[in-house]
Amino acid sequence: MNYQELLDGFSWEKVVKTFDWNVQEKFNMGHECCDRWADDPNRIAIYWEDAEGNTDVWTYKRLKEQSNKMANALRSLGVQKGDRVAGLLGKDMELIITVIATWKIGAIYVPMFTAFAQDAIKYRLEDCDCKILVTNQEQALKLEKVSIPSQLLLMDGLTADGSTFWEFIDSFSDEHQTEPTNVMDPSVIQYTSGSTGMPKGAAWAHKILLSSYPYVRYGIGIEDDDTMYGGADLGWAFGLINCTFVPLSYGISILVYKGSFNVEKVYSLLEKYEVTNFAYAPTAYRLMMSYGDDLAKKYNIRVKKFSSAGEPLNAEVVRFFKDTFGREIYDHYGCTETGMIVDNFNVTDMEVKPGSMGLPSPGFNIALIDEDGNPVEKGKVGQIAVDTTAFPYFFLGYWNNPEKTEEKIKGKWLLTGDLARQDEDGYFWFEGRADDIISSAGYRIGPFEVESSLIEHPAVAEAAVIGKPDPTKGEIVKAFVILNPTYQPSDELANELSLFVKSKLSKHQYPREVEFIDSLPKTPSGKIQRYLLRANEQTASR
Ligand code: ATP
Ligand code: MG
Repeated sequence: MNYQELLDGFSWEKVVKTFDWNVQEKFNMGHECCDRWADDPNRIAIYWEDAEGNTDVWTYKRLKEQSNKMANALRSLGVQKGDRVAGLLGKDMELIITVIATWKIGAIYVPMFTAFAQDAIKYRLEDCDCKILVTNQEQALKLEKVSIPSQLLLMDGLTADGSTFWEFIDSFSDEHQTEPTNVMDPSVIQYTSGSTGMPKGAAWAHKILLSSYPYVRYGIGIEDDDTMYGGADLGWAFGLINCTFVPLSYGISILVYKGSFNVEKVYSLLEKYEVTNFAYAPTAYRLMMSYGDDLAKKYNIRVKKFSSAGEPLNAEVVRFFKDTFGREIYDHYGCTETGMIVDNFNVTDMEVKPGSMGLPSPGFNIALIDEDGNPVEKGKVGQIAVDTTAFPYFFLGYWNNPEKTEEKIKGKWLLTGDLARQDEDGYFWFEGRADDIISSAGYRIGPFEVESSLIEHPAVAEAAVIGKPDPTKGEIVKAFVILNPTYQPSDELANELSLFVKSKLSKHQYPREVEFIDSLPKTPSGKIQRYLLRANEQTASR
């Protein structure tokens, strides 16, 4: 199938019919990603494993029973439709059960990252006025200094009688009537990653499950007999929706691994569970590349499709995967507020152009617009904008923040804050976030192209590029570089890297300053926070 055939054969009507509940009347994510598959007692939903090697296998039937118990438990605690329930756990089954149960009673789920420290947790709990926080003792330790309102329940050894999560829910019935929610009722408040400042609580409707269907089906390219491993954390839109609950809504099996990222471990999991579909963030793929193909080839990897999202994917990494596994990584673009909207489609035979994010998702209307809100010509840079009047739109605004919501929308367009251009074939090429664009001596420079060029040098493992204030040029390009293990920082190497980029790109894009560092500031989902690097430079130059 080519891309045009995919578009021609696509309709939302057909997508809607693949779900159980009639969208016009009711639609509930908890039902769609769990109960609808539970009649078959042997259908496996989740293979679970942790870093210590403990394993468990969950059928859809077991997921249904346990989430029903939790739904009844939440009800008994006074949680009602529309209330907020936060989850602060790692990739634990308790967390997955909590999410499904929250949806089943029509309440709103609020994801937290276990990587968050106390202030980040407190900020989110207060911002959305959470009724209940589901967590465990290990996580709760870091909350000691935060005064958690007493009505918040801290589970697993933290309930009044000290019972575990499973002991607690076990006293409730495994029968539960799922709340017949409306398709536009809120289901999740997902905080944005905070790449550009304070995270905002994006409210999603239950419809997000429907709207994400084409992406997961055609972009990630899930097939009915797949075992999928999406490594992203459940605290992040990509991990929660695209790596976990949309795949479950197809009735396939997924792997949930609780443990920190480690290249060798990932390869061994892919082999052990015979994973056929793999998704992760660019930072993970870059690390896998830095270990070279000798390690990769030690394992019997059966993955047929690789997906990446959340940050620009460098061409070098795409080529490494093609050479090592015979298959490119397919890059996908989206935002918390929009879902995945520009993709390389794993189910098509479209050409993957390394470094490009691909083509618009079927059923979405996406444009590149100028500052007045008019579409720009092919080849010109514009801001990526999404039509809010088209069917898949599921964003209900930022929780409690009408001003920020208003800023985000111009006419019928939702503004992503990202700049891109389209080539003659319609492919989107990421230029950078509008805030990250460097303005030097009259040139506008996107950091991504410079970073990708740096990564092609054998010494460079990772790079972040920002504009550093400069009295004559306005800004100069400055690069922060993490070296591969066998290289040592030196002035000569810094100079060599500058010249390397100059010879590959142009004389206005090369970094005039190169600083070697051990780590880059990142969000818990692994995105480089260039605004923090910029803030440091400004303080330093004052
Ligand atoms: P915040 O809005 O709080 O500053 P954030 O925008 O990083 O944080 P997310 O919604 O998680 O929060 O991320 C969406 C952003 O990630 C996009 O706006 C874009 O800048 C970047 N992004 C996502 N996928 C890609 C991709 N494939 N290539 C380039 N950039 C991407
Ligand atoms: Mg954003």
